[in-house]
Amino acid sequence: MVSAPARPTGEQAYTDGTGTFHPLQRRIVAGTGIAGERVVDADACVIGTGAGGAVAAKELAEGGMTVAMLEEGEWHDTDEFTARPRDMTLRLYRDAAQVATLGTPPIVLPLGRAVGGTTLVNSGTCFRTPKPVLELWREHFGLEELTEPALEPFFRRVERTLNVAQVPARLAGRNAAVVRRGAEALGWSGDFLFRNVRGCVGSGVCAFGCPAGAKQHVGITYVPRAWAAGATTYTGARAERIELEGGRAREVVARTRGGGRLRVRCEHVIVACGTIHTPLLLHRQGLGAESGELGRNLAIHPATAVRALFDEDIELWRGVPQSYYVDEFADEGLMFEGAAGPPDYMSMTLPGLGAHHRELMEGIGRMSQFGVMVSDTSRGRVREAFGRAHVRYDLNVHDAATFKRGLERLTELYWAAGARTVLVPAAGVPVLRDGDSSPLQRARVRPRDLELMAFHPLGTARAGGDPRRAVLDGDLAVYGIRGVHVADGSAVPSSLGVNPQITIMALATRLAFHLLDAPPPSNEPPPERIAEPRVSVAHVAA
Ligand SMILES: Cc1cc2nc3c(=O)[nH]c(=O)nc-3n(C[C@H](O)[C@H](O)[C@H](O)COP(=O)(O)OP(=O)(O)OC[C@H]3O[C@@H](n4cnc5c(N)ncnc54)[C@H](O)[C@@H]3O)c2cc1C
Ligand code: SF4
Repeated sequence: MVSAPARPTGEQAYTDGTGTFHPLQRRIVAGTGIAGERVVDADACVIGTGAGGAVAAKELAEGGMTVAMLEEGEWHDTDEFTARPRDMTLRLYRDAAQVATLGTPPIVLPLGRAVGGTTLVNSGTCFRTPKPVLELWREHFGLEELTEPALEPFFRRVERTLNVAQVPARLAGRNAAVVRRGAEALGWSGDFLFRNVRGCVGSGVCAFGCPAGAKQHVGITYVPRAWAAGATTYTGARAERIELEGGRAREVVARTRGGGRLRVRCEHVIVACGTIHTPLLLHRQGLGAESGELGRNLAIHPATAVRALFDEDIELWRGVPQSYYVDEFADEGLMFEGAAGPPDYMSMTLPGLGAHHRELMEGIGRMSQFGVMVSDTSRGRVREAFGRAHVRYDLNVHDAATFKRGLERLTELYWAAGARTVLVPAAGVPVLRDGDSSPLQRARVRPRDLELMAFHPLGTARAGGDPRRAVLDGDLAVYGIRGVHVADGSAVPSSLGVNPQITIMALATRLAFHLLDAPPPSNEPPPERIAEPRVSVAHVAA
């Protein structure tokens, strides 16, 4: 690779609000306006405009293909973002963010549904695929070509396009400051996170649409670049079938919000509906079903939040909500990452009712909240029933034990930071006071005792070198059918131990270069710095 000057990743890069790409034309066709049947021709039809789909579409369009992008959700302008969780959750999330797993315990699994997919509402944290995870993929899944050097140009390209830079301490908020204080008192490893932003002002509402237009989600980075290269986005268009001809995909059929039908005739179909919906679309025609693995192997990185009350003002809604991480125990499958938001969001997520809830809300200004994320060994399954996704996921006792260790350690960190009381989200554990963790240490924490959410579904159409164990080959082509590839979280074969968007985007970039038969980009600048969390694979289930 030709060496280019390093790309800045410091405070100036993070806070500079210039440089967002603005296309001359928005090439959007609203599905509400398609009532009859419309047929379009394209080289490639990309289904879904989230982390994987938008990236694949932009690269294919810039590489010279005509691209049609289908998106079930709508396009939303930055000006529409009110910063009010109650309004925005309804508009930007699927089922008002109430998608949940069935199983023990039930787990809320929010998914974005809009141009930009879940990146529109995500926290903007950026990690590359950890090197040990790539090694595991080579060893257990035969993904020989996914080495760190081979992926390096794709990571760089994604990071440059998204302007990945490190949160400066002054925007990280006091929630991060107290956690950092605790980590440093204990000598634990941690750092400010790297995020995809330009001109972030620390307004604290990333999960509800960034009103500053600072978060560089794919809807304002990759999708506009795809338009500039000639691609068209059809919104309100839900792909329902992939039609085949002579063992090759030839057409995607979508139902439009206007009650009509859109047919995209194409050479290449790139499915990027996300980990929950991609297997359902493939399954309807029996695509990728030969191994029996389609819809299985669902990993979700289950997560929970510990809250602590201090004597000092924290105001956790000020600053970047996810700005700091503690990776001291990442090699055990535990990551602690910021989890904060505005008071109305906190009021929806805090436990209890009536007087208990009121008491917590009265102390909200002095409350800190931080997340515990587990790199899961449990696996779930997705199926379609009555036209809807049914997600089954049961947390195993191993992962429940990892959660217990995570809760104990984060509590220890909070005591070291000077917390007065700590609230852990495990049934039967009372409010912990005055540095005493013994009620938590004595508690039996079973899967059903935990209160969990999950933000990173992965693996339901996993890639692998052996068609008997995988749905996709190493180039993300669906085994057994020509012309269908997958570019989203479903292709990722295991949990990662870190947030997945950069992994998904790098794999989607690689796929596009493969379809274009182009060599990897050779002049992408290296970042000045990038996060290197202490992840090992001892905890990752193959
Ligand atoms: C609150 C929250 C915070 C997060 N924070 C982070 C973070 O900080 N860092 C990180 O790395 N990850 C984060 N994630 C996860 C990350 O955003 C996702 O892993 C990533 O966006 C998944 O990419 P994808 O391409 O698989 O799917 P998505 O981004 O979900 O995109 C799929 C798209 O396909 C569309 N679609 C589905 N079915 C159809 C159909 N049949 N026809 C047409 N369109 C369809 C959907 O509407 C959606 O827009 C977070 C997630 C959430 C919910
Ligand atoms: S903290 Fe505010 S300005 Fe920064 S990315 Fe999040 S929503 Fe946008």
